[in-house]
Parts: sequence; C-alpha cells; structure tokens
Amino acid sequence: MEHIKVLQRTRSAGNYMWYALCKCHCGVIFEAREANVKNGHTKSCGCTQYDKKHGHTTLTWQSPTYNSWCRIKQRCLNPDSPAYKYYGGRGIMVCERWMIFENFLADMGERPKGTTIDRINNDGHYELSNCRWATMKIQCSNKRQRGSIFKDGEIWLIKRLLKVGVKQKVIAAMFKTSQPTISIIKLKRRLCYG
Ligand SMILES: [Zn+2]
Repeated sequence: MEHIKVLQRTRSAGNYMWYALCKCHCGVIFEAREANVKNGHTKSCGCTQYDKKHGHTTLTWQSPTYNSWCRIKQRCLNPDSPAYKYYGGRGIMVCERWMIFENFLADMGERPKGTTIDRINNDGHYELSNCRWATMKIQCSNKRQRGSIFKDGEIWLIKRLLKVGVKQKVIAAMFKTSQPTISIIKLKRRLCYG
C-alpha cells in the first residue's frame, strides 16, 4: 500500500464505480478502481509486479519488453519525467488496454534485439495501430518527416484558443500540426487500471 498515494477520488459520468487517481512510487499517475486500491489488489501502476505469471520481471531484473513498457508509461504519465513534455505533456497517451502489461505483450510480442518501440505517427498514441518495434535507423529516417514538438506554453495557448471557440482546423494550421493532434489535446482520454 505504501507504493501508491491516492490524489483524488473520481467518478465518471454514467459510471457507477468510484475511481481513485493515484500516484505510484515511480511517479506514474494513473487511475484505478477505488475498491481495488482499498482492498490492496492494486499496489502500484504495474511497475512492481514481480511475481506475475508472465515472467518478465523479478526483484532485480526486467526483460527488455517490460522495460520498454515501463518507459512508455513514464513518458506519458509521469509529469516528473524529463521526457514527459514531449509525450504526456503534448497529449500523447497510453491506450487503456496497455495499462496492463500482459495486454501490451500480447499485442506487440517480445521486443526484438536492437529495436525500440516506435510510434508510426508521431502525433498518435501508444496503441497497437500506431506502434511497431523498429531499429534506430528506421526511426531516424521516419523522424525527418514528422511534425515538430510543442514548445512550453503552446499547449496552454492551444487550450485557450479552443476555449474561446477557435476551430480545430485553424489552430492546427497555426501550429503546423494535424487536426487530430488538436483534438487529442482537447480530449484528455480517461485512463483506468486494475
Ligand atoms: Zn509505478
């Protein structure tokens, strides 16, 4: 239980279950069913599941696949992570399904040697339709065509513009990005785990 801290109690519209917004000891912020937090079933964001059947982690070792999974969550869900501003900070999310390691493993398979996880569309999320294991060489050649990363303060400005009713298409043109990127910023997707 000492692994996580409950930040806030939440309940979504049309859902009768209570959720808890939690901060894991590793810094990842995630949502879990409140009942699972209270009964001790959810002890972390998943980073300390040593004894799981998948065999990808022990007390002192993590498989390359498990390591990639942890790093994705850090980038997208830990505001204290140095890389957060390039991922979570600009609306890049981890799909709900991948908040559970077994699902990530089933979708992506084991990480081949010499590769890291690559998002095909740089403005897309970490989800099966947008991810592949790729070598650095492939990733670099892909990156040159990709959109630029938002600077500090730009997300804030985009949210302001949305609030005052400026069309997503117009904002996308202003920031030289795609309309889906703007809608991602608008619709922070709900995450749940456990
Ligand atoms: Zn964690």
